[in-house]
Amino acid sequence: MTTRWQDIAPGDAVGINLAVRTDITAPLNEDGVRCPWPWEPQQLGGVPLGQYHCEYCGAMVVAGMEHLDYAEEQPPLDPEESVYVCPFCGARSQHPDDFRNEYCGRCHRFGSAVDDRI
Ligand SMILES: [Zn+2]
Ligand SMILES: [Zn+2]
Repeated sequence: MTTRWQDIAPGDAVGINLAVRTDITAPLNEDGVRCPWPWEPQQLGGVPLGQYHCEYCGAMVVAGMEHLDYAEEQPPLDPEESVYVCPFCGARSQHPDDFRNEYCGRCHRFGSAVDDRI
């Protein structure tokens, strides 16, 4: 059972370290590293800060918005094929349903789960 980090309120996330809590999803920074604590940017609404670097993972994030996830910007290994490559564990799947849903059968995660913020 995987918990989406977006489903955890910042107040409940105190003490959670996503670098070790692999049962919870985490946004990835530009280097593909899981952010250990991505709940800070969304709490900065009203702060005239704009973009800044997350102090936990170094990713460029936007104050007042959910922590950005750079996992989807990693190019697929085979652009011509319908292969889904899991951004979390690197597993590849050619199952059409996995590709469409961006679902990883190995670690049971949805790669695009972060994209419902707008
Ligand atoms: Zn971060
Ligand atoms: Zn996976």
